[in-house]
Amino acid sequence: MVEIVVPAREGRAVSVPAGARIRVTTPKGRQAADFFAFNAGNLREWLSPPHTWVTTFSVKPRVGDVLISRLRRPMLKVIRDNAAGCHDMMIAACDQFRYEFFGHKGPHASCAENLQVALRRLGHEIDVIPQPVNLFTHTRIEPDGRLLSPPNPVAPGAFIELEALMDLLCVVSSCPFDLNLQGWEINAGADITEIVIEVEPA
Ligand SMILES: [Zn+2]
Repeated sequence: MVEIVVPAREGRAVSVPAGARIRVTTPKGRQAADFFAFNAGNLREWLSPPHTWVTTFSVKPRVGDVLISRLRRPMLKVIRDNAAGCHDMMIAACDQFRYEFFGHKGPHASCAENLQVALRRLGHEIDVIPQPVNLFTHTRIEPDGRLLSPPNPVAPGAFIELEALMDLLCVVSSCPFDLNLQGWEINAGADITEIVIEVEPA
């Protein structure tokens, strides 16, 4: 069993061989975790929520769902979820310019940069930031198409467990989104906390 603590506002990569399970936990609750997965043998094949939406016919990952790559190959299966399905597959990873868009001045940690740094530590450079699965992120699509992010209800210790269906390199980012936007509370306000990754071998 491999356990990695992803410090608040940072990202970490972990190898998840085919058949192994990865569990992602939000120890304090209400902390969003951006989740990315790549084919360990070809980083140009990544987990793709938009391709998955029209395979599972859902914009949320559910127990039993198989999440696929942009080449439409099975990558991960959702095994357990005690976060009551409170995950998002719609929102792009936050980046410097998203924070600037909302008026932030100066550098700001982001999931996009966390992903790039986590992979650089292993000697990989990527030039595309894939659409993540935003674990523990509360979004809702209204009948008129509006996208809402109501207050995050995820309890401390909530987790999701996924089985790798191919050899994967996964990256998890503790989302540093700490802006106070009315009606768009991604995390627990400005309180950004750590995320725990565990990998159980096959
Ligand atoms: Zn983020």
